[in-house]
Amino acid sequence: MNSCLFCRIVRREIPAEIVHETADVLAFRDVRPVAPTHVLVVPKRHVAAVREAEDTDGELLGQVMIGARDVARSLGLAAGGYRLVVNNGEEAGQTVFHLHVHVLAGRSLAWPPG
Ligand code: 5GP
Ligand code: ZN
Repeated sequence: MNSCLFCRIVRREIPAEIVHETADVLAFRDVRPVAPTHVLVVPKRHVAAVREAEDTDGELLGQVMIGARDVARSLGLAAGGYRLVVNNGEEAGQTVFHLHVHVLAGRSLAWPPG
């Protein structure tokens, strides 16, 4: 068993506030939210980042995006709008090296990001 933080959440070894789950995807609230709604959507299978995804990981990547859509629908975010963020690598701000999509909503989000 690997010691990756999000793999451990997937295995229920570390508690998290889970908001959505399918056979392939888990979504849970970020422990340090930067918006009123801040959910992380992760594939259950460990992939470190989009930059390390294989050509054969297309289905997994699609499932994570569909998972983000379903989180937004179930939390009532779709009408007002929401932002999906995927950090790739240290300079982009990635700190947990298990691929995840941030779902952010509930406040006005500036563009471009700071
Ligand atoms: P990144 O910076 O890699 O794009 O995003 C990692 C996110 O994981 C951060 O927003 C951080 O707050 C969140 N995070 C770090 N540790 C934990 C944890 O133990 N539980 C939860 N739910 N979120 C975490
Ligand atoms: Zn992992």
